[in-house]
Amino acid sequence: MHEWQPLQEQYNLEVRRDETLAKHCTYEVGGPADFFCEPHNMEALRGVLQLCRAKGTPVTIIGKGSNLLVSDRGIRGMVVCLAGAFAKRGFLQACPGREAYAEALNSLTEEPQIDADGFAWLFSEAGASMIEVSKYASSLALGGLEFACGIPGTVGGAVYMNAGAYGGMTQEVAAITYYLDADFELRAAVWDEQNFGYRRSLYQDVKGTILATCYRLQPGDAAEINSKVAELTAKREKSQPLEYPSCGSVFKRPEGYYAGKLIMDSGLQGFRIGGAEVSLKHAGFIVNRGGATATDIADLIAHIRKTVAEKFGVTLETEVRFIGDW
Ligand SMILES: Cc1cc2nc3c(=O)[nH]c(=O)nc-3n(C[C@H](O)[C@H](O)[C@H](O)COP(=O)(O)OP(=O)(O)OC[C@H]3O[C@@H](n4cnc5c(N)ncnc54)[C@H](O)[C@@H]3O)c2cc1C
Repeated sequence: MHEWQPLQEQYNLEVRRDETLAKHCTYEVGGPADFFCEPHNMEALRGVLQLCRAKGTPVTIIGKGSNLLVSDRGIRGMVVCLAGAFAKRGFLQACPGREAYAEALNSLTEEPQIDADGFAWLFSEAGASMIEVSKYASSLALGGLEFACGIPGTVGGAVYMNAGAYGGMTQEVAAITYYLDADFELRAAVWDEQNFGYRRSLYQDVKGTILATCYRLQPGDAAEINSKVAELTAKREKSQPLEYPSCGSVFKRPEGYYAGKLIMDSGLQGFRIGGAEVSLKHAGFIVNRGGATATDIADLIAHIRKTVAEKFGVTLETEVRFIGDW
């Protein structure tokens, strides 16, 4: 019997071998995953996690790969991709309780329902596109997720990273998140229990796998909300090199500085290693100008860190996450 056959039989979950990860991340670089699967519900996800634990196979969870640098050598073990298949979303009458994950999934409606306090509750599974969920809310004149209209990851990736932009952050709207803990038990964390910080969350600390989040949104003026989305989209298009593969900002904002400004003032804009280039449009981005390898990008990151440290005495920390066999 094929070693992953039980997953196929029990959950109709296909496991692929030697899946190229370059096609699952926005940098479009990176070698193969030994094994790769895309579970579509919690049972299948838990099934694969349990089987991997029993076999001693390491597991890496990914969303849309928009904040990842995958090694050219790839990733040993199983890569579990939640983008796409794990993506139900809809509205609830109220914020769901800690024990209400399954019930919430079965009670979703297409139309928003406004509760007695004037809030709408948008529940989304982890693999849904953050851009699509943000636009869905805006199209219904619900405010709160406008900041995320250009963040090209999943809902799970945004919660994990506490993604934010233009003054908005995930932590302001993520009311409750359901996740599997390190022993694959279903848990829930509400508001502050999620230990959000700058690009940080509880789920990084507890090695949690995020299943779904419920956002608290506020009905607003449709024209105002849509004009905010249009304004943020225009800002992004004007300032970011969206025409090339990238991971967005490579570095976290260092206390008291802007990474992009430090890099620009170091004279590094346009500097290239192989196919990786410090963007001419936004110095905080490294873009793949075609044919870049993960090693090119990693070497360029190291060069930038060294140069900025020498010139300004500032240590840049990466926001992009290195995964795989480095
Ligand atoms: C052009 C561009 C612009 C960007 N702009 C912004 C921006 O404005 N603000 C911002 O914050 N980010 C931005 N990013 C970065 C990125 O989109 C975010 O960090 C995003 O939230 C990552 O989501 P993802 O699904 O792609 O996660 P991935 O990149 O696939 O994974 C990121 C991390 O999250 C973990 N993870 C993902 N899903 C789960 C899950 N369900 N459970 C547990 N762990 C999980 C992974 O293991 C990994 O450690 C940008 C990226 C690009 C390419």
